[in-house]
Amino acid sequence: MIYPHFIAMNIGIVGLGLIGGSIALDLRSRGFDVFGVSSRQQTCDRAQESGVVSEASIHLSLMARADLVFICTPLGAIESIARELVPYLSPDTILTDVGSVKTPIVQAVSSLWPNFVGGHPMAGTAQNGIEAAVRDLFVGRPYVVTPTPQTPLHSVEKVEEIARLLGAKVYRCGAQEHDRAVAWISHLPLMTSATLVAACAVEGDRDIVNLAQHLASSGFRDTSRVGGGNPELGVMVAKYNREELLRSLSIYRDSLDEFINDIASENWQALEHKLKHTQKARNNYNL
Ligand code: NAP
Repeated sequence: MIYPHFIAMNIGIVGLGLIGGSIALDLRSRGFDVFGVSSRQQTCDRAQESGVVSEASIHLSLMARADLVFICTPLGAIESIARELVPYLSPDTILTDVGSVKTPIVQAVSSLWPNFVGGHPMAGTAQNGIEAAVRDLFVGRPYVVTPTPQTPLHSVEKVEEIARLLGAKVYRCGAQEHDRAVAWISHLPLMTSATLVAACAVEGDRDIVNLAQHLASSGFRDTSRVGGGNPELGVMVAKYNREELLRSLSIYRDSLDEFINDIASENWQALEHKLKHTQKARNNYNL
C-alpha cells in the first residue's frame, strides 16, 4: 500500500541488522524508497539481494538524499555515526535512532543535530544481523519517542507517524523516564534471566545438571529467554543505563532476600501473600 503524503519521502537506514533490516522491510512494503548503510560490504550485498533495501553501501554519503535517517547500529556506535553523518545531511533531514537506552544518546546527538528525535521500538528476537530481519516485528509493540523541549514538533510527529505505519503503539516521554522504566521491564529481566542460567550452571552434580537439562520445559524457556539473547546488546545496555540498572538490581536483590527469608523461616503465609500480590500485579503490564 502507498501512503500519499509520505510518497516523496526517502528513508535511510544506517546499521542493517535485526532492527534496521526489519524497519527497512516494512517501510519498503509500504511504498517508501529505502536505502541503507552498513559496516560490512557482505551485509550491504545481502540486504540489496534480498530486497531489504533498494540500494546499500558502506559509505555514509548515500544518506545525502534521505529525508529521514534511522540509526540502527549498536548503542556504542550511534554518537560517532551521527557525527560522521552530519556533513551529508540537508538542513531539513530528520535523524532518529532505535537505541535501547536514551539519555546519553539524546544528549549527545541532539547537540550534533537539532532535528534529532530519540526513539526506541520495543521489539526484538534472540537473533541479530541482517539474516534476522523480519516483517511485522513491531506490530502491536510499543515504540517510544523521547524528544527534548527543543526538538521540532513536526519532526517528532513525523517519526511517530512512521512508527504507527510499522503497526506500533506510540508513546512519548522524556529520555530519563524512558531509561528508568526500561531498566525495570527490559534491562533488569535480561540480567535476572542471565543470572538464572548462570546459577543453574553452578550445580556441581553432573547427573543432576544432565537431568535438569532434559526436564527443562515451558517455565525455564520463558524465564531464561531474554538472558540467552545477544551478549553485545546486554553489555551495551548495562554500560549505557548503568545507574538505573544498578538501582533496579539493588531493589530486586532486597526483594529476593525477602523471599529467601520467608522460605528459610517457613513463613508460608507471608510467601503466599507475596505470590498473590505478584499474580495480581503482573496483570497491570502490557503483555
Ligand atoms: P544487530 O542485529 O547486531 O544490527 C546492528 C547492525 O549494525 C549490524 O548488523 C552491523 O552490520 C551494523 N553496524 C555495526 N556497526 C556499524 C557501523 N559503525 N556503521 C554501520 N553499520 C554498523 O543489532 P540490533 O539488535 O538490530 O540492534 C541495533 C540497535 O537496536 C541497538 O542500538 C539496540 O540497542 C537497538 N534495539 C535492539 C533491540 C533488540 O532486541 N535486538 C530492540 C530494540 C532496540 P554489519 O553486518 O554491516 O557489521
